[in-house]
Amino acid sequence: MASAGGQTLWARGTHGNALVHQACVPLPDLGESFPCTEYNGRRFMGLLPLIRFLQEISIRARSWSASPPSACFIFDDPSLRQLRYGHLDFNQLLGVCRKHRFHAAVATIPLDSQRTSSAVSALFRSNPDWLSILIHGNNHTARELAQSRSSADWELRMAQALRRVNCLESKHQISPCKVMEPPHGVVCSELAPVLNRLGFEGLLVTPHQFLRVPGNDRIQPSLGLNPAGCFNHGLALIPRIVLSSTAETESALALAAGLPAVIAGHHQDAADGLERIARLADFINASADVTWCNPSRIARRLYWTEGSSTGRHVTLGSSQTELNAMDESHGATLTVVRPWIARGGEEALRVSHEGKVIWENLHAGREATFELTQRGLLQVQSMVRLAHDPVGMPDPPFEPWPVIRKAIMELRDRSQYWARVFPWSARNGSSPD
Ligand SMILES: [Zn+2]
Repeated sequence: MASAGGQTLWARGTHGNALVHQACVPLPDLGESFPCTEYNGRRFMGLLPLIRFLQEISIRARSWSASPPSACFIFDDPSLRQLRYGHLDFNQLLGVCRKHRFHAAVATIPLDSQRTSSAVSALFRSNPDWLSILIHGNNHTARELAQSRSSADWELRMAQALRRVNCLESKHQISPCKVMEPPHGVVCSELAPVLNRLGFEGLLVTPHQFLRVPGNDRIQPSLGLNPAGCFNHGLALIPRIVLSSTAETESALALAAGLPAVIAGHHQDAADGLERIARLADFINASADVTWCNPSRIARRLYWTEGSSTGRHVTLGSSQTELNAMDESHGATLTVVRPWIARGGEEALRVSHEGKVIWENLHAGREATFELTQRGLLQVQSMVRLAHDPVGMPDPPFEPWPVIRKAIMELRDRSQYWARVFPWSARNGSSPD
């Protein structure tokens, strides 16, 4: 299945009924490290054969399957004030999305969202299959989401982010995805329960950046490898790939592990046109039968299923899940497993089909079983206890620096486009912003 320099590195075969994988690359000695540190664009041959072997025996023994493959590109930072932000032209992006069959989301900064123009909003509103918007921090200051703050302080700041992007809904009839893309790729895990209480659906995490933040190593060891590996309380943990020279390899590895391929870049990545993005989309489309969708739908498609003598079990990776029950027979039972609920704990659970509730249990436990009366796409909602309505919460104290910083950053980014005329400000490639 893999070779290099004429040497076989990994071979797969059968011996009688037994499945045999032979790998020449030894298993990594993980020690205290997370497995994801050995499964990335630079190193993966130590773990890939083992992961594939475990998947295959799980499929044989328990009809295991990961969530349906999905993918999305994300561009961090753009203001929605004009149809172009730096090197990124939204009309051009839409054209490439249509031609190469992929979805792109713009992670916009809430501080800036009230300046959205009607031309930009019309473009996004008219093309939800190709373009969407998600939330990029609140003020976008340095390490904004990796600071040490109290839960109450975080709640005020994240509620303000939601209020700020609400104008997209009330004024422009666009529903931004309630998925948080952390500025500079860094976030502390203490933020997850706050986002969950405010109704966010997911948090994007690049494992190697996430593990650099003090305290984040208390997360589950399967970080970045488990399709249903959510944060506590069911906030979706969406693994994020940086648009770098290893993005193609990392996309293939994500899909092989049953994870979505979510690739994040910046306007600088469009400096030489969008051909590189288009090539990566073509590669992903050729690798798997991928559904390109917005970040909310990516969050809702994180789960894995397995069969047992008592019916099919679905382990959720998000409190809001879209479950494809197209192949299940009428009257079959489905057991929903919510790993974030402690044994003996309970949380209301609701299952809907085309907006109509077909099953509900206000005291459902970690595992809850119901009879399938509808086939097709089911919405499985774990009824998370929300905090105060963000609309009625006070603003945190005003800080002038974020406003000044945003203005400088936008001037820098927009001037880079004009660097073709004034080359002194040229800079190419994805930045950590
Ligand atoms: Zn940013």
